[in-house]
Amino acid sequence: MNLTDYNEIRALLARHKFRFSKSMGQNFLTAAWVPEDIAESAALSEEVGVLEIGPGVGCLTRELSKRAGKVLSVELDKSLKPILAETLADCGNVEIVYGDVLKQDIPALMEAHMPGLRYAVCANLPYNVTTPVLTALIGAGCFEHITVMIQREVARRICAGTGSPDYGAFGIFVQWYMETELLFDVPPSCFVPQPKVTSSVIRLTRRLSPPLPVKDEGLLFRVVRAAFNQRRKTLVNALSAQIPGLDKAELEQMLTRLGYDPRVRGEALDIEGFVRITDEIAAAQIALS
Ligand code: SAM
Repeated sequence: MNLTDYNEIRALLARHKFRFSKSMGQNFLTAAWVPEDIAESAALSEEVGVLEIGPGVGCLTRELSKRAGKVLSVELDKSLKPILAETLADCGNVEIVYGDVLKQDIPALMEAHMPGLRYAVCANLPYNVTTPVLTALIGAGCFEHITVMIQREVARRICAGTGSPDYGAFGIFVQWYMETELLFDVPPSCFVPQPKVTSSVIRLTRRLSPPLPVKDEGLLFRVVRAAFNQRRKTLVNALSAQIPGLDKAELEQMLTRLGYDPRVRGEALDIEGFVRITDEIAAAQIALS
């Protein structure tokens, strides 16, 4: 069976009385080149165990099965169970867990299902949960590569640097832990039902260590979030409004000491700039306590 042929998918789904769920982000691929190119980009080999989120009817799962040592797919929609039992019957290295990926202990799941392998993620993600899923996957800390198709707009935000209108707190969080690459775009015509937006495939590669040393990583992300929560405000106003105990005059002095205009906005700072201001704040807070 050709799992990306529009007519074959429709017939398969009709035979199983399957109904698409918008709330589960169900847009299935109908162009063979897409799952092939995504799987080919995912840095897979016999030594790699790959986690897929949301196999749908299994078109990407089959491509992963050809290239990885083992595939573990987590699928929320139990009504896909009889369909996947049929479409993946000949894939001996695929296991499926039915449940919500956001409720899994991901490192424990990987260890339990594929001990002794190196780990990667490859998925066409349900777009409504992209940010929490990526946050959980990065937080799990066990994946060398995360290759995912997501909304183009979110992909651009994840990969953006200073000076781009897409630059923001989530991109800085991802880039702190992972190197990011924007690989290719996929138009709505490659899916059933067609989404309203263009999609992009990105590859994240785990950094061996953060890009720079920082005194307090938790404080760094608080500073970044505060800066972008109110991105039209100056950094001084944004930080003093959202981080208790930060005095405006003192913040202005810190920025001047670091060589910045005291009226600078957070969006003008690169990651190094955020680290430098965080270290100044951490040092001042330690001196106070
Ligand atoms: N991989 C298939 C493809 O490319 O054609 C389907 C991708 S579709 C965009 C997203 C898939 O994720 C659906 O199968 C959906 O049921 C599943 N899904 C949605 N939310 C999920 C969750 N929280 N945990 C696991 N799977 C989920």
